Amino acid sequence: DLVDASLERIRETDSQIRAFLKVDEDGARERAKKLEGQSDGNPLAALPLGVKDNINTEGVLTTAGSKILESYSPLYNATVMEKLEKAGANMVGKMNMDEFGMGSSNENSGYFTTRNPWDLNRVPGGSSGGSAAAVATGQISIALGSDTGGSIRQPAAFCGVVGLKPTYGRVSRFGLIAFASSLDQIGPITRNVEDAAYTLQTIAGHDPLDSTSADVEVPDYLSALTGDIKGLKVAVPRELMGEGIDLGVKEQVEKALKQLEQLGAVVEEVSLPHIDYAVATYYLLAPAEASSNLARYDGVRYGLRVDGENLVDMFSRTRSTGFGNEVKRRIMLGTYALSSGYYDAYYLKAQKVRTLIRRDFEEIFNQYDVVVGPTAPTTAFKFGDKTDDPLTMYLNDICTIPVSLAGLPAISVPCGLSEGLPVGLQIIGRPFDEAGVLKVAHAYE
Ligand code: GLN
Repeated sequence: DLVDASLERIRETDSQIRAFLKVDEDGARERAKKLEGQSDGNPLAALPLGVKDNINTEGVLTTAGSKILESYSPLYNATVMEKLEKAGANMVGKMNMDEFGMGSSNENSGYFTTRNPWDLNRVPGGSSGGSAAAVATGQISIALGSDTGGSIRQPAAFCGVVGLKPTYGRVSRFGLIAFASSLDQIGPITRNVEDAAYTLQTIAGHDPLDSTSADVEVPDYLSALTGDIKGLKVAVPRELMGEGIDLGVKEQVEKALKQLEQLGAVVEEVSLPHIDYAVATYYLLAPAEASSNLARYDGVRYGLRVDGENLVDMFSRTRSTGFGNEVKRRIMLGTYALSSGYYDAYYLKAQKVRTLIRRDFEEIFNQYDVVVGPTAPTTAFKFGDKTDDPLTMYLNDICTIPVSLAGLPAISVPCGLSEGLPVGLQIIGRPFDEAGVLKVAHAYE
């Protein structure tokens, strides 16, 4: 059956792809037995599911890609896991990721690096690279990822699959290991738009366990997939089609825009005047929040402890050993930005620019239904290409970060190949209009 086929495919391919941090073979087989004949009618019933390793799974190791959580086995399920299990989805394992979600290539995993199935010398993207590579390889049917600044959409684009980041607050973050709490969202990575709609339908909705989850009605996403986008107004920000975007990527996106026009949409150019500040803003706010969220890894409450001569020495040895370089870099950036005397100059300023970026989008959405552009400025790059200079790595998220700062829903769908590698088309919607985003993606697909 489905789980056997998934486990077989993992056995065949994962020594090359390395998408899984853990395959829960026994658990999956047990659940498959229990599920037999039970969840009839549910579209997700018995589907093999891969879960990014920063999402708590009861009794199954959850490391967030970090050595500091090497031995952490959660006592409870994240809300999204509860919901997916109830729908009959069967988790076959936990997916590799950049440590705590910090990265765009999986090269920051504390364990090993996942490879891109289209070219094993290239990165799968990140931080949900394991999730995207596994779906692309056919190891699993659906996966969960998390997206703080692009971590669902960019790996989906690099691996030629569909990835949806919901509106901030649409999906419960209860049981998601926090990176930057005002940006983090869980979402599906799937082979097609319909599967993304089914998965979102299952995980969306208000959760009393997450005070930032929104009490907004969840529509029927499947009924949005009509294929009809006649008269729909599509905005294309010129800043996302200009300098810094690879020509091959631009070409494929332009073709996609023509196709949307052929389907009856009206495509027009617009501007996002504050987008130049987005990456700088994100790299103040996300590390600031991360430095605070990561303070809990002190050798007392979770995971790793390295003994020292006294308490402070123990904290210091534990954190020096357990965290990787990128995580340390972010903690230093974040504590600096939050320290007294610098708070107003950096953190507060960044919050103000975040508001300006959100308003840029609001203005566009007064006149347009969706905003469309590339998901990433390049296709999948080679291992080691961007590891020497963190800034060039950060800049790979230029197309996704503004959307995260504005809290908007966005999907990446495959839109052709450039030199044999997949290109992603990003479709961005109004707050809580995942239905609109899915509709356009489905019509295009
Ligand atoms: N690549 C970005 C970062 O390193 C975004 C990661 C994410 O969305 N989790 O922060």
